[in-house]
Amino acid sequence: MKNLYKALKQFKEQDYKENKDLYESLSEVQTPHTLFVGCSDSRVSPERLLQAYPGEIFHIRNIANIVPPAGQSVKYASTTSAIEYAVEVLNVKNIIICGHSNCGGCAASINPPENIEELPYTSIWISQLEGLSQQVSKELPDEKKTVKANRLEKLNVIQQLSNLMTYENIRDRVEKNQLTLNGWHYSIGDGVISIFNEEENEFIEL
Ligand SMILES: [Zn+2]
Repeated sequence: MKNLYKALKQFKEQDYKENKDLYESLSEVQTPHTLFVGCSDSRVSPERLLQAYPGEIFHIRNIANIVPPAGQSVKYASTTSAIEYAVEVLNVKNIIICGHSNCGGCAASINPPENIEELPYTSIWISQLEGLSQQVSKELPDEKKTVKANRLEKLNVIQQLSNLMTYENIRDRVEKNQLTLNGWHYSIGDGVISIFNEEENEFIEL
């Protein structure tokens, strides 16, 4: 098992010392360039994917990287307040919605586990995927569950990009080229990242 305190000590003695100037420069201000909306999944590591240091990325992590649309913004204020802060106060230049392979949230939406009722909060949260999940089941009725889940992971990224555009401040900044919206799908095992191309309406491998 990981020794948490040993890790903290190592951070203090190695990582902090090696990057002392950086940490000191961040002590009173953050100016992240990017808001990363990713799944809570432990295998998705934004700093590694973007080769980034502390101070560069503002994070929102939730199950299945969901952005509730503007009409739902009060109900899900934990997510929407972080978006508001990133855009209005931190003035981020990019927002990334990053889906990933083998996403438990998407898989559970396609094929709810028997004990889903024992997870009341998770059920409420992933019920936001219901419409998309039904769409996938209609499109791919005979495919395996894993294929359907993969399709949902990608459709979900596209949906969350359009949910972002339901916020007036985001729409306004995108139209003025002050903000870019990016949809990614990260395949964990092989490190392949596919980028959503709006003109082609498909994901293209990087
Ligand atoms: Zn996930």
